[in-house]
Amino acid sequence: MSEKKIICDLCKIEMILSKVDLLYQDQKMNADLLKCPKCGQVYISEELVKNKMREVESNLEEK
Ligand SMILES: [Zn+2]
Repeated sequence: MSEKKIICDLCKIEMILSKVDLLYQDQKMNADLLKCPKCGQVYISEELVKNKMREVESNLEEK
């Protein structure tokens, strides 16, 4: 995990790591994502999306 802090654009406060439910191609999954404790906005980096997509795709191939 990187120590880089992500600040919510709206609230100007630090986002915290929390479990977030995601829906991708009808696959429900959850991940630890940075989320603003005030407005609930979730920060999703491009890198994370790519990793998650790869994870889901490999899961589909196994079936
Ligand atoms: Zn916020």
